[in-house]
Amino acid sequence: MPVPMPELGPSPLAAGHELPVDEARRRVLATLRPITDQQTVPLTQALGRVLAEPVVSPIDVPAHDNSAMDGYAFRGADLAASGETRLTALAETVFAGAPTSPAVPPGHAVRIMTGAVMPEGLDTVVPIELCRVDADGVHIAPGVLRPGENRRPQGEDLAQGKPALAAGTVLGPAELGLVASLGIETVPLRRRLRVALFSTGNELRTLGQPLDPGCIYDSNRYSLMAALQRLGVEVLDLGLVPDDPAALNATLDRAIAEADVVLTSGGVSMGDADYTRDLLAARGQVDFWKVAMRPGRPFAFGPLDGPGGRRAWLFALPGNPVAALVTYYVFAREALLVLAGATARALPALRARSVAAIRKRPGRSEFQRGIVEPAEGGGWQVRLTGAQGAGILRSMAEANALVCLRHDQGSVAAGDEVEVWLFDGLR
Ligand code: AMP
Ligand code: MG
Repeated sequence: MPVPMPELGPSPLAAGHELPVDEARRRVLATLRPITDQQTVPLTQALGRVLAEPVVSPIDVPAHDNSAMDGYAFRGADLAASGETRLTALAETVFAGAPTSPAVPPGHAVRIMTGAVMPEGLDTVVPIELCRVDADGVHIAPGVLRPGENRRPQGEDLAQGKPALAAGTVLGPAELGLVASLGIETVPLRRRLRVALFSTGNELRTLGQPLDPGCIYDSNRYSLMAALQRLGVEVLDLGLVPDDPAALNATLDRAIAEADVVLTSGGVSMGDADYTRDLLAARGQVDFWKVAMRPGRPFAFGPLDGPGGRRAWLFALPGNPVAALVTYYVFAREALLVLAGATARALPALRARSVAAIRKRPGRSEFQRGIVEPAEGGGWQVRLTGAQGAGILRSMAEANALVCLRHDQGSVAAGDEVEVWLFDGLR
C-alpha cells in the first residue's frame, strides 16, 4: 500500500490574477484570424498543407459497380431458398480493367476478379474459397452468402458533386490518395504561414561560436524550429538578439515586415520584463500574462504593429528550455494551425495509469515529462522521467509524453489515471 500523502493547499505564490491555462488558451484562440492568401499546388507537394477550398468530387468513385473479391459473379435472386445453390459456369473470366463484360443469363455465373466491372444484371459475388467448382458448375453451400454481397456499388466511396474534403483539412497520405482517386492533379491551398523565430538573452551563444564564460548555447531556437518544421510552417530564423532595446526593435521591425507570426523565447520573465514590456506596448496590444501553470508562467501574446502598417502575432515564450517547449505546445501550436487556416484539432490525449504518486497543488496546471508504455494486463501506464526542473531538457528528451495535470486537480495516487500527450502525436 502506498503511504497516503497529505493534500497540498493552493500555492502561496498563486495570486488571484494568475490566468488558468484554459482561459489563456481561449483568449488566444478567440482573437486569431487565419491568413487568406491562396496558391495552387500539385498533389506531390501538398503533404501537410492546408486546403483553402473544399474538394468536390467530379466523378463517382468507384465509377461502376465492381467486384470486391476474386470469385464468381451471379444474380443474388438465384441463391436457393434452402439447400445448395448450383449455377452454370460460363467459360470466360472478367478481369479488372476489361472494357466489356459478357451477358450472363439467369442461373449462370461468371469467373470475376477483384475490381472488375460487374456484368449487367449481376449483383453478388461468391468468393472463390467459399464455393466448389466442378464439371456441373459452381456449387454454393447453404448459408454462406446473402444476395448483394461482395459487390462495391458505383459511387460508394464518393458520389459525383459531393464534397470529398472540407476547406481547412490538413492533407495527409489518405487525403492525398483520395484527391488522386478523383483524377485531380492540383489543389487550392492556403499559402504557408510564415513564422519569424528568434531567441533573446545576452548569455546565449549560437552553435559554432565559442562558449564564453557564463554563457550557454541557445537551444530553444533549435527545439522550436523543429516543432515549427513538424507543423509545416515556413520558418524565418532571425538568430540571437541581445537584451538591448535597439537590437530588439530592429529585429521586430524585420520580423513583422516578413512574417505573420513572431515567436520568441526569453526576456518575458520578471527580471527582464520592464523594457520589453514598454517596447512591446508601444507596438500594439500585447498582453503580458502570468499563467497558472508549471513550467512556464510568463507568456506574452498579441498583435504587433510594424513598419508600413503591417501586423504580426507575437507569441513570447519563457526562456527556460522546457518551459519554452511546453508553452509552445500549450498555447502556440494550436494557434499557429488556426492562423494557417487549418481546422484545429485538440492534441490527441491518452489516459494512462500513473506508476507512482505525483504531488500537485490544485489551482495551477502542471506539465511533467513521462514515459508512457503498455501496462501489464492492458491499457497504458506512465512514469515520470527524473528531475522535472523547467530548465532540464534531458527530462524532456528522455520522455515520450507530457503528463498534463489539470488546474483543479490535486495530488495523484499511484494507480490513478492521468492525461498524457504523446510527443509523437504532436504535429
Ligand atoms: P529568461 O526567460 O530570459 O529570463 O530566461 C530564463 C532562463 O532560460 C535563463 O536561465 C536563460 O539563460 C535560459 N534561456 C533563455 N533563453 C534560452 C535559450 N534560447 N536557450 C537556452 N536557454 C535559454
Ligand atoms: Mg533572458
